[in-house]
Amino acid sequence: MIRWLANVPKLVAKTGPLTVQLKQMETHQGLGVLPIAKIPDATANSVCGYCSTGCGLQVQLVDGNPVNVTPRADYPVNLGMACPKGWESIRVLDAADRATVPLQRDRSTNAVREIPWMEAVSHFCRRIKDIQQRYGEDSVAFISTGQIPTEEMAFLGTLAKFGMGIKHGDGNTRQCMATAAVAYKQSFGFDSPPFTYEDFEQSDVLMFIGANPCVAHPILWQRVLRNRRNPVILVVDPRKTETAMAATEHVQAKPKSDLVLLYGLAREVDRRGAVDWEFVNQSTVGYESFREFIEEYTLDRTALETGISTEQLNRVAEHLSNSKRVSFWWTMGVNQSYQGVRTAQAIINLALMTGNIGRPGTGANSITGQCNAMGSRLFSNTSSLVGHHDFSNSEHRQKISQWLEIPEENIPTDTGWAYDQIMDGIDAGKVKALWVIATNTAHSWTDSIRAKRLLAKLDFLVVQDMYTTTETAQKADLILPAAGWGEKEGTFINSERRIGTIKRIAKSPGQALSDFSIFRLIAQEWGCDSLFAKWKRPADVFASLKTISEGMPNDITGIQSYEQLDSVGGIQWPWSSKDQESIGPDREPPRERRLFSDGKFFHPDGKAKFLFESPREMPETPNQEYPFLLLTGRGTVSQWHTQTRTSKSSVLRTLYPSDPYIEIHPDDALRLGIHANDWVLVESPRGRARVQAVVLSTLQVGQVFMPMHDNQTNQLTLQHIDPYSRQPSFKNSIVRIIHEPKSSKSERGIERIGEP
Ligand code: SF4
Repeated sequence: MIRWLANVPKLVAKTGPLTVQLKQMETHQGLGVLPIAKIPDATANSVCGYCSTGCGLQVQLVDGNPVNVTPRADYPVNLGMACPKGWESIRVLDAADRATVPLQRDRSTNAVREIPWMEAVSHFCRRIKDIQQRYGEDSVAFISTGQIPTEEMAFLGTLAKFGMGIKHGDGNTRQCMATAAVAYKQSFGFDSPPFTYEDFEQSDVLMFIGANPCVAHPILWQRVLRNRRNPVILVVDPRKTETAMAATEHVQAKPKSDLVLLYGLAREVDRRGAVDWEFVNQSTVGYESFREFIEEYTLDRTALETGISTEQLNRVAEHLSNSKRVSFWWTMGVNQSYQGVRTAQAIINLALMTGNIGRPGTGANSITGQCNAMGSRLFSNTSSLVGHHDFSNSEHRQKISQWLEIPEENIPTDTGWAYDQIMDGIDAGKVKALWVIATNTAHSWTDSIRAKRLLAKLDFLVVQDMYTTTETAQKADLILPAAGWGEKEGTFINSERRIGTIKRIAKSPGQALSDFSIFRLIAQEWGCDSLFAKWKRPADVFASLKTISEGMPNDITGIQSYEQLDSVGGIQWPWSSKDQESIGPDREPPRERRLFSDGKFFHPDGKAKFLFESPREMPETPNQEYPFLLLTGRGTVSQWHTQTRTSKSSVLRTLYPSDPYIEIHPDDALRLGIHANDWVLVESPRGRARVQAVVLSTLQVGQVFMPMHDNQTNQLTLQHIDPYSRQPSFKNSIVRIIHEPKSSKSERGIERIGEP
């Protein structure tokens, strides 16, 4: 079984940086090497369209067609490096299952027929209007994505909510970044990741909590490896991940005990006299209450509840207390939790109390998931009013109404339903029509058997996507064929708030249109196009978004144009016109900037808040019937989410296992008579999956792990959410494992069982 980058730290030590390995791979396999006759006649710069690292890529073109991709050496994010997904990014555009024409499904026969664009758009508008008239304002919803440019997100959100009167809309970013967004907003007064990637290289101590950058953000791990300060690396994770293997200390805490761990560490830091009182007094509120609260998280209690020895707790506390530059980094291990917001805030609290924020090598830093999750958080008009305003604030509604020149009554006074509430709304028979844009609900939502049943219950399901074969598209009544990354233009915002451009370097196949053009067609057919008359191109929307950002913490009025973004290596928000004036009109913005260097936060009093709460019970815990706890996460560096794109690259396919698998501890395997590569049945109270066993001691006894990329995984997971962010908790579901010694791939195939 190939698990590319399974041993990244070792690989890097042996063979050099990823770029070198990938170059070797390219040369040996003849991949991406141009035929001699085909010398590129042009190049175009773009930002990668997979993860939130936001690597700068250069695409080489021959006769206007993309033929090769290389990482940009001059881009401040990736410094000449890219992971396999980036290198292979143009190879997935001409897949055979691309949606090339609008398709309409006949429910009685399940047959699909091609229809002209205008018929598709007219059918779409007619059905949505009819359902709204018959069933009322809750009857239609949309689910957006973190994968399309900011300009398209803003168009979708404003068109749906202000133009079409669709009250409920959310994005798949609810599944990855909602927790971080809410945690920052409550603690800092605005959703504001404070860091810049240079902080990876400037820290004395890096603490990763629920994060595995070796696999999930490999170029950011390369930035860690560039750190010349001989840093201490602390990794908090129930699994011995690739990153944990490279750590100074792997803090292998029990699943979901991280909140207790962080409170216990805060108490130890306080007891060591390591509180930065000057910073705490000047820039924060609530430390005394927090101090009182953590008093009960003694070393012994913390050790008991986390499974971490008091010796290791002391060592970690020493590192946090005695180092000048400590940075804290978290991703989905924290965000995807039923108590994710408070866990993220426990991390923020540690950074605040030690004054580790606003200086080089510090920060409470959430690494984003999707390439434009930050664009979605700020501008999608879903969980906040476009531009990160507040739906319930009448001044904000007035501002938006003047900005778009639309009546204020077109603007809802609340955010509408979150993703889980939309799904529950379908279940309750309230939501009758769903418009899904560039995401794959039937695979990626928790308890996916239920999710599929709910999608089938809808009167009208529309999927707007690049491919016709996603699990969700296969259930759609109408498929609107969309152009993908590389076939359209706009901007993405990466984890460190850097706005970069994407370019149209390829023609979309057949009649597929950019999402931007599809929204324009719909606006016209709906009869609300006058609201968006100024938005003829993505650049027009960008200019509009600049205007609406004025005076906000994410003010980007100082950005001049896409061309400027391209030439200076992207610009981190905020960059206001005043910022530009302060350095002079012709100077370039600094390439790396962090927030809060002045100790001022975004709450009206300028102070950050200590927020905390007692840990909650895990919603379901292993029992006699279901004795294992299932953890989920990213499998390899070559896979992206539900694999709608990455499965299309023959190179990427060779870099991850072809069969679905589960990782299980050797002691558990021995007890159940399971050998490596045996096929097993994994069952939860919700569904089951047939997978191969990978026997590994990276997990603790009683825990198993499955990558999220296989569509069986979420058949097992439970829909339960964080009460503040409404983000689902994917990483703690109970399962049992049934050994099927006689099963084999050839006997049984890998048929998906448990689907409706
Ligand atoms: Fe960079 Fe992420 Fe793209 Fe890989 S997937 S090249 S790490 S942006």
